[in-house]
Parts: sequence; structure tokens; C-alpha cells
Amino acid sequence: MSDNTSRETLGFQTEVRQLLQLMIHSLYSNKEIFLRELISNASDAADKLRFEGLAEPGLLGDEPELSISVEYDDKARTLSVIDNGIGMSREELIDNLGTIAKSGTTEFLKQMSGDQLKDARLIGQFGVGFYSAFIVADKVSVETRRAGLDADQAVRWESDGEGEFTIESITRSQRGTSVTLHLKDDAGEFCKGSRVEHLIRRYSDHIAFPVALVDRNDADKEPRVVNSATALWTRSRSELSDEEYREFYKHLSHDFTDPLTWSHNRVEGKREYTSLLYIPSSAPFDLWNRDAPRGLKLYIQRVFIMDDAEQFLPLYLRFVKGIVDASDLPLNVSRELLQQHPDLVSMRSALTRRVLDMLAKMAAKKAGDYETFWREFGQVLKEGAVEDPANKDKVAKLLRFATTHGEGKQDQSLDDYMGRAGKEQDKIYYLLAENHLMAAASPHLEGLKKNGIEVLLLTDRIDPWVVESLGEYDGKPFEDVARGDLELPEGEGKLTQDANDQANKPFLKKLRRVLKDRVATVTVSRRLVESPACVVAAADELNPQLRRILEASGQELPESKPTLEINTGHPLLTKLSAEPDDKRFEMLSNIVLDHALLAEGSQLENPAEYVRRMNDLLLELDSAPGSG
Ligand code: ADP
Repeated sequence: MSDNTSRETLGFQTEVRQLLQLMIHSLYSNKEIFLRELISNASDAADKLRFEGLAEPGLLGDEPELSISVEYDDKARTLSVIDNGIGMSREELIDNLGTIAKSGTTEFLKQMSGDQLKDARLIGQFGVGFYSAFIVADKVSVETRRAGLDADQAVRWESDGEGEFTIESITRSQRGTSVTLHLKDDAGEFCKGSRVEHLIRRYSDHIAFPVALVDRNDADKEPRVVNSATALWTRSRSELSDEEYREFYKHLSHDFTDPLTWSHNRVEGKREYTSLLYIPSSAPFDLWNRDAPRGLKLYIQRVFIMDDAEQFLPLYLRFVKGIVDASDLPLNVSRELLQQHPDLVSMRSALTRRVLDMLAKMAAKKAGDYETFWREFGQVLKEGAVEDPANKDKVAKLLRFATTHGEGKQDQSLDDYMGRAGKEQDKIYYLLAENHLMAAASPHLEGLKKNGIEVLLLTDRIDPWVVESLGEYDGKPFEDVARGDLELPEGEGKLTQDANDQANKPFLKKLRRVLKDRVATVTVSRRLVESPACVVAAADELNPQLRRILEASGQELPESKPTLEINTGHPLLTKLSAEPDDKRFEMLSNIVLDHALLAEGSQLENPAEYVRRMNDLLLELDSAPGSG
């Protein structure tokens, strides 16, 4: 235990060092947020002690009242945030204030650009926390004693925020943590009573513990509680301002951008609980890490129980932040017990519906906000179409797509699409492609465009599963325009070309013969107008785009040959059908097929062969008259 008493100097983890630099630089114009962060941490520490005290009442000892005080000293130019919460042991202190535990931090830091505004936003998504103290302080001193440990097992942590910190053992009579900031020259405002009081009222009014203000230079002045000290969600909606809701969100999420919207509800009756759910305005840096902590903060009868209770909402709503305060769950509930609790199923489905309704309301009333939401979280919400069959209609209404009607932005709803489709159109047409450029230029769209039929252009990885799971919308099935026989709506000029098929019979037969190793068959197309040819998959085969995704993820799929569709009105095909030389016919047919495959984004099985064919063709050009 000898090294437990000595003073040690330790280096910050590289990520902490980078974060500190960035924070000081990019949050300079938002300096004051540090106070909200430190009071939030103090409140979390009090919450944690109250929770641990449920199982081990001795931890609260002779100091059962949990509180926070903010002490300013105008002469010494210091500001301290003090709590009598859970405190930290030596090991916890080194881990918590020397490293960053979030996975993906390194990747996150790489995104930083040096542009102050942009970086400030990014850091907001990351969550600022304790290190924000260094925006206003050139030295920070933390003294802490973990609940349950003796006075001489306390520790002091000190740093100037450069690259190192020191740790030493101290004696501390009080349980909990005191964070003292030695203010920088330009941060003198934060040791003035009126300024500090204003900030606490503004940012931390909703903290559920009393926050007292203390002037260290005036022993006669009594400490004064300056916040309302009631849990915000227990107050009624009518007495809460938007500002208060926003501040509570920031305390909860450590995000310092405003949320887009929220929903605050009390459910009474058989199961009683209150929920307050927020939709953030920007995605967190670890949104795509499926193992990242997510979920609501759980309270039971106002006692904090756990962070990140993921049981209350499905994975596809992982962007929602908020709290749920249940009256009827047992106080000693663990994650495992919670998972099995009979009330959970109904609470989860009610909360899920609440979020979906909140989104529907935003889509209807605040189009601009919904656009922001969709940009940040749309891809995640799409997972709901696949994973939540019970709510699939609600989710489908919330989806937004790019279509041949728009400019390439994902901003059209299925209702928008249906509104424009003629009554006689009994299908919802879609095209899957790698990106919007390829989708918009796809030969598969030609016939539909000519007939004025709108097509959804789907380019997200998850899209094939979305249309598959939805199956239909409003009674109309989804139809892949690159698969099977394309049936265009009756009356819109159905391109029946039976006569044409008949006339081309010998040509088709010849093509089928020379291409038999590469295609299932060759047919006259109903979907082409300008392009000479395209490939399509059979109706019961995988869509080629989906096949590429699956193959890229390492799945072995049975081999399948596409159908080649030709546009007999195209001069290239006219020329080909009149080609007398068998060798040339074979070469040109293969090139037509190669190009159809390339146009839809497929890889050629034998690119070298293709290059050889093209070279032969180019050589022919060379000997043509006029080519020099
Ligand atoms: P975050 O609060 O987002 O986890 P911070 O950087 O603010 O990140 O804090 C890191 C950790 O340090 C916290 O998770 C907590 O465990 C610990 N900590 C910070 N402040 C206190 C405090 N006042 N009392 C006890 N623990 C604290």
C-alpha cells in the first residue's frame, strides 16, 4: 500500500490530451458551460450514492442529506463545486480523470477540422464533461473521498491541463468530491457571486438536489440554496418553460446543442410512470456502434437507479434521450430483473409509440426540424421498418426517400409518392443502386420515365430489407424495376410488344445461343427507351444490388445468371441483328452484355476478356477510312 500515500505524476491518455486542446480552443465562446457540466457530475455522484445506499444504508452514515455547494472566492480567484455524493477511490480517480473510456474516441477526434464552429458542434455530440473545466481554469484541483472509505483514504488530483496530472493521498473529513478551479485571467467573472448565481439558476435549476451558493470571503453570509431542487419531470407541463426543458436535456445528455423536440407524460392507472423523451438535433459520434451505451435514465420513485436502461426502447430508437420514473418497479431492480419484469413489455410498447407519435407530429408541423432529424437519424429509423413489425405502418409513414421526382434528396414520403401516382397505378416502383448518380442514370428507369411513372431511388445499404419487410404500403405492393417482368399500369401505354417479339425470334435465338454461358435468356425489353440493353434478375432471384452487398459481407450465394433485355429499336441492335459474320456477331453480343452489366454497377467476371474484345473493336476503327 506504500505507493498509495506518495505523490505520483501521471500522463493523460493521448486522447484526453487532444480533447483538452480542442475543447479549450473550440468552446472558448461557450465558456460558461463548464459550470453546468460540473454540477451535473455532482448531481450524478449524489444519485449514485443514494442508489448504493439502498443496498448498503451505512454508506450514507451520519450525513443522509445529499447536497451540492458552489463556493466562490473573489480574492483567491477560485470557484469550487462540492458534493457529498459517491466520491472516488484512487483507482477510480486515475481512470475517470485521466482516460476516456468511450470506444471510438480516436476516430472521433480524427474528424476534428480546426474550424471552431464545426468542432464545437462535434464536441457537443461527444459530450464535454469534467474536462471543460480547463476552458476557464489554468489549474484544477480535485479532492475526493469515496463513500465507505476512511478520512485518510482520500485523494487529491491536480493538473494544469497540459499533459500530466498528479495524485496524492490526503485526509479529508467529508465524503464526496470537491472540484476547485483556479480561474484564468480572462475568466474572472466566474468568481463573482451574482454571475455564478445567474448561471446556476439558468443551467442547473432543475437539479434534484439543493445547490447552495457560498461566498468564501464573507463568513457572515449564510449559504443560500439558489435552485428549485425538485426533479424537473415531477413538475407539471404547464409550469415548465421550453428553456427549462432544453436545459434539462443538456444536463441529461451532456450535449450542448438544443434538442429538436420532446414529450413529457405521466401515465396513471394500473402502472404509474412518468417519461420525458427527447429527440436530439445531431447524431452522437458513436451512433453506428451497436454496442455503445444507449437507453433511458431509470428512476424509481425519483431515486436514480441506472443510466442507459436500454430495455425501454427498441434498438432503432437508440438516438432517443430521456428519463423514465416508474412507481411500481422494485427499488432493487437489476438489469436482468428489469428485462424479465412483467410491466416492461407494455411500458416498452407505450414508449415506442410515444416516440413514433412525437416524430409524426414533428413531420407534420415542423418540416425543417424533421428534415434535420431525417438527415441525422433517418438511416437508424429505417431499421425499424425491418425490426419492428408491430409498428411497421407507423414507421413507414415516417420514412423519406429520393425519387425520380425530386432532386436527389431523401425528402419524399410514401404519402407524397402515392399522392402523385395515378389511381390506376397499383404498385410502388423502386430501384436499388449503389448511389444516387447511378440510380438516376439507370437504364431500368427509361420506360417508366417515359410513361410518367415515379420511382423510388434507394441507395442505402438497408433499403433492400426495408422494402422487403414492408412488402406494401397502403395496399400497394413494392415492385423492383430491375427484377422480373416489369408490369406497367394498364392505360398508361402498356408496352405490349408481342408482335415485336415474334419478328425478332431468330435474332433472340441466335443471341441466346452465343451468350448461353453468361445469361439465363435474352428477351425484348419493355423497360428500355434509350439504352441498347440491360440485365434483369428473375422475380424469384436476389436483386443484383442486394447480391453485391451480401457478397461483400462474405456470404456465399448460389450462382445465378441474369436475363439480358434488348432494345430492338436501338441502332446498335439493328446493326447487330444484320451482322453476317458469326465471329463478329459473337464479339459484339458479348460487348452489349458487358456494357449492360457495367451500367448497373456489376463487376465483370472476366474483365481481361472484355478489354480484349474492345481492343479488337478499336483496331477495326484504326483501319477505317478517315482515321489517319
Ligand atoms: P461523464 O460524466 O460524461 O462520464 P466526465 O469527464 O464528466 O464524463 O467524468 C468522467 C467520470 O468521472 C464520470 O463518469 C464519473 O465517474 C467521474 N466523476 C466526475 N465528477 C465526479 C464527481 N463529482 N463525483 C464522483 N465522480 C465523478
